[in-house]
Amino acid sequence: MNVADSAKLAAGLDRLGWTATEEVTDASLVVLNTCVVRERSELRAVSRLGRMKVLKQKGADFRLVVMGCMVGPRDDELRRRFPYVDHFARPQHFEGIFDALGLAEDTGGEFWPTSFPAPTGPTAYVPIIEGCDKFCTYCIVPFRRGRERSRDMHEIREEVAHLVHGGVREVTLLGQTVEAYGLDTGGPDLGDLMESLSDLPNLARIRFLTSYPKNMTPKIIEAVRDLPKVCEFFNIPVQHGSDAVLERMRRGYTIPDFREKVELIRSMMPRASITTDLIVGFCGETDAEFAESLTLLEEIRFDKVHGAMYSPRPGTYAARKLADDVPPEVKKERLHALEELEERISTSLNLAYEGTEQEVLVEGKRDGRWFGRTRSNKLVHFAGETAVGEVVQVRIERASAWSLQGTTADDALPLII
Ligand code: SF4
Repeated sequence: MNVADSAKLAAGLDRLGWTATEEVTDASLVVLNTCVVRERSELRAVSRLGRMKVLKQKGADFRLVVMGCMVGPRDDELRRRFPYVDHFARPQHFEGIFDALGLAEDTGGEFWPTSFPAPTGPTAYVPIIEGCDKFCTYCIVPFRRGRERSRDMHEIREEVAHLVHGGVREVTLLGQTVEAYGLDTGGPDLGDLMESLSDLPNLARIRFLTSYPKNMTPKIIEAVRDLPKVCEFFNIPVQHGSDAVLERMRRGYTIPDFREKVELIRSMMPRASITTDLIVGFCGETDAEFAESLTLLEEIRFDKVHGAMYSPRPGTYAARKLADDVPPEVKKERLHALEELEERISTSLNLAYEGTEQEVLVEGKRDGRWFGRTRSNKLVHFAGETAVGEVVQVRIERASAWSLQGTTADDALPLII
């Protein structure tokens, strides 16, 4: 979401005639887009701010804006901690940045929504719903990004058409809870939106991120099955394998509910790729509760698991009311155990790709080899004759937990949709 927000701001600045510099010291404006969803990302933002301070002290002459999740409704504390920052902007509050810099008149008051990001390759992110209404006890997002607000379907279509015109072949529709699209307006849902985008010529693929199990309806799953351009790939964060922990997290579903969604997907699309996010060391997590997470991973066999150690986010219910009582070394051990299991499962799932031919969208070339992704979102490195943006058939020769290796199939032709 932050990548998409940065691209949007860059598009607005571009429209005003600003250009990007290679070096911070050559810039007259620096915008630091921050994420505080985990402690580590917050520490990185703070460290980057420290570097900006030093540059300013050494005489660099730029205005500094901090944007994103680090900025809440009140910024007094941030102003006290970082007095050298010129402006703090909440996520997507682009207009405030232009006002603060005295550029508001130039924007014609219509920065959002008509400044579409310039494509930077064959794939692009497109936010379709902002904010989150779920208030999981550990999560800062609803406090920083506000309530769920769906964008107008026609405006999204216009943005995707603009991107496709600029060479984009694959769009990922974004939301913190992407299947909630349309719930706040009572308008078209995610399935309707994907259907509307499907007829854009030269758009080859549609993906969506991130799923919230409760909002995932059979109608949306059917749309994935029935619309050829929509990839059979689901990222559904389960966050924990124990119902007791899910309740402490206030995730709003149980493991049987989650299992039911996975079964529904697999009954409609047996080869769908399913990934998940999972937190270890949440408040009060016992050995037995952690073991339930491992058991769930063994049972579902996700294509990929994004594991994270719990860290309290100030301002959340968990930070205020629940004890962060799992010692750091235990959290590390549990994450390690999860990653070992994940690697074993991913390897065995990826090995099944060996000897098959996969449709790959070519994203670039590195060290003399092309790379791109399958419809199931597997990263593939391969040899052969092709070009960025083409959709080619690749024969998979080797697989590891992290990627597939192969060669373009002899009879592969560029697929122009
Ligand atoms: Fe945060 Fe996701 Fe829960 Fe929303 S659904 S509160 S974004 S974890």
